[in-house]
Amino acid sequence: MLMIPGPTPVPEKVLLALAKHPIGHRSREFSDLQGEITARLKWLHQTQNDVLILAASGTGAMEAGIINFLSPGDRVLVGCNGKFGERWAAVCQAYSLQVETITAEWGKPLDPQQFQATLEADRDRAIKAVIVTHSETSTGVLNDLAAISQFVKAHEKALLIVDAVTSLGATNVPMDAWGIDVIASGSQKGFMIPPGLGFVAVSPKAWEAYKTATLPRFYLDLGKYRKDAAKNTTPFTPPVNLFFALQVALQMMQAEGLDAIFQRHDRLMRATQAAVQALGLPLFAAPGAGSPAITAVAPTQVEAEQVRATMKKHYDIVLAGGQDHLKGKIFRIGHLGFVAERDILAAIAALEASLVELGYSGFTAGAGVAAAASIFAKG
Ligand SMILES: *Cc1c(COP(=O)(O)O)cnc(C)c1O
Repeated sequence: MLMIPGPTPVPEKVLLALAKHPIGHRSREFSDLQGEITARLKWLHQTQNDVLILAASGTGAMEAGIINFLSPGDRVLVGCNGKFGERWAAVCQAYSLQVETITAEWGKPLDPQQFQATLEADRDRAIKAVIVTHSETSTGVLNDLAAISQFVKAHEKALLIVDAVTSLGATNVPMDAWGIDVIASGSQKGFMIPPGLGFVAVSPKAWEAYKTATLPRFYLDLGKYRKDAAKNTTPFTPPVNLFFALQVALQMMQAEGLDAIFQRHDRLMRATQAAVQALGLPLFAAPGAGSPAITAVAPTQVEAEQVRATMKKHYDIVLAGGQDHLKGKIFRIGHLGFVAERDILAAIAALEASLVELGYSGFTAGAGVAAAASIFAKG
């Protein structure tokens, strides 16, 4: 039972779709498939913009989101409050952009006012892009993208480039309403399919920037994908079986409905948070800033790595550990994608049992399950 923030659990219907014989990607059948998928991806992104599909992991989509729209030496403002914000900065540095960061302590959300101040101070409109991780997976923090997007809109010049890898399909990311120019995501997160596909959604404003952007690009040249997408095909051989899987997964998501998906993730988050607190374990994310995809826990009286090891060994439930300086300090419970209330109840019950096994006595037996159950009872 995978409860890590990617790869996430895959529904059986989707697994069965993967087991089909591949089809030729220059066939009518494939074009029909891509046409359907593209329409559904637009629905998921709440956009009329292009949504392009890459054979890449999420980081490939992020890199595509930089190299297609910027030029060496361009000044960019990057939000950094965790591992993935730092990855954005590293990608930008690799391509010789002039990186300025807005930071927050890991576990705290980025402060939108700092974006406002920096963008307003940029009187000659030199900042070419504001680059933000929406759900910071390394810490379980959701940044206030709606607020930040308002300040980018007011600046008018800068593009808003967003890593929505663990927010898309978990919480509201209305691309058009918030004026997001580029959204990067990956298949093994909210999409409920295995790793292997990256997605990049691109606004008309970003396509304008594409025309003059001079960073080198070839495989990830989104212009090629856009041109071919108009004919419902791809420039290079796509992982066709992942397309079969994606078709089924997106059908499932659309049948559930966006609001229902967001509410489900919100319930899973609140139940997990309540359960963890009822067990006397501190939450790592600042109050109110938790991600609907992942809950990070910073235990003080038990070893995070021992909790993970016991959960795995005894209950076959896989939790994520901490990254970088948080290694051994936190464990993370993923509740993204194909996750139901039952899964949370099972995970919390197993967590309680693991804590008992590790000799931790900071809670009344059943307190975690009761806390989660009470959230689910209220709906
Ligand atoms: C998983 C993830 C990525 C992408 O990682 P890949 O391993 O390249 O797929 C990027 N950003 C965030 C926030 C993620 O959670």
